[in-house]
Amino acid sequence: MIGVKSLKTIVMCLYAMCFLVACTPTAPSTPESAVTEHWYDVMPRASWGKYQQVKTSQNWFEVYQLSDNTYAIYEPFQWQEAISYLLIGTDKGLLVDTLQGIGDLKAVVNQLTDLPVIVINTHSHFDHISGNYQFETVYGFNQPFALNNAKGHANEVNAQYMTPDTFWKNIPSSFSLETYHNKAYEIDKYVEDGEVIELGGRPIKVVYIPGHSPDSVILVDKTNRMMLTGDSFYPASLYLYFDTSSFKDFAKSTQTMLSYQSDVDFLLPGHNETMQPVSYLTKLREATLAVQNPETPSTLDEEGVRNYQFEGFNLLVKEPLDF
Ligand SMILES: [Zn+2]
Repeated sequence: MIGVKSLKTIVMCLYAMCFLVACTPTAPSTPESAVTEHWYDVMPRASWGKYQQVKTSQNWFEVYQLSDNTYAIYEPFQWQEAISYLLIGTDKGLLVDTLQGIGDLKAVVNQLTDLPVIVINTHSHFDHISGNYQFETVYGFNQPFALNNAKGHANEVNAQYMTPDTFWKNIPSSFSLETYHNKAYEIDKYVEDGEVIELGGRPIKVVYIPGHSPDSVILVDKTNRMMLTGDSFYPASLYLYFDTSSFKDFAKSTQTMLSYQSDVDFLLPGHNETMQPVSYLTKLREATLAVQNPETPSTLDEEGVRNYQFEGFNLLVKEPLDF
């Protein structure tokens, strides 16, 4: 989950209401650095143009082929811009995160592979698990936060993240803000820290990295030199101020992430943009050390959230810091 303090400009307006009904605004080519009226004015993000787009039956998602056996399934039409990944081995597929439960994700996955698919989540915030219910095999953690989120959530729990102004276009006709909720799912197998999921010629290591949430993990695909980072790294505001977040744990986890830097070339984040350079791991570790230095510049908002800006990302932490 990314928070309500997005750097994207969210405009609460009646105009936003109209596009859920009839309007389909097109994306202007506004540079990301410019001040924009709507969050989607920066769309489409140029970095996705590097990858082959795969057309599917579901235009709520954009699907990109990152390599022979790796796909990104992206939701660019809702402001969280969540990204799921399908990793394919010779025997099985691994679907990493299942987005927000908008649109038919299973239909997309079925189009991309005939192999049996295992679902695993980088963490159990609703924008990463809400399509889990569609799949037969879900791996997860025997951990209180993860177990609680698997029970699902009623509409009001995440309504603050699902407002008309957070949508842009291509909204499925089956979707309704009034009835939206997060469906429960079963965890079929518990995974342990350090466990390897074998997809057939493609071992994927699950590494526990609490901080953003108590159940965050990275997935390390050494064969393809990729690390899937969920919400523990993407090139934008990183949310460490939730009641269930821990900056202290996150700082420690960035060291864990950095320990894999020689095994990977690219970071595959859970939001906004994909295939980020591994050099961000060092920058992220250094950023957490900088936050612990009182001399490091930051801004403080009225809710006690401190914003530390770094090159390519920023850290949002709550005062008092827990280190
Ligand atoms: Zn999250």
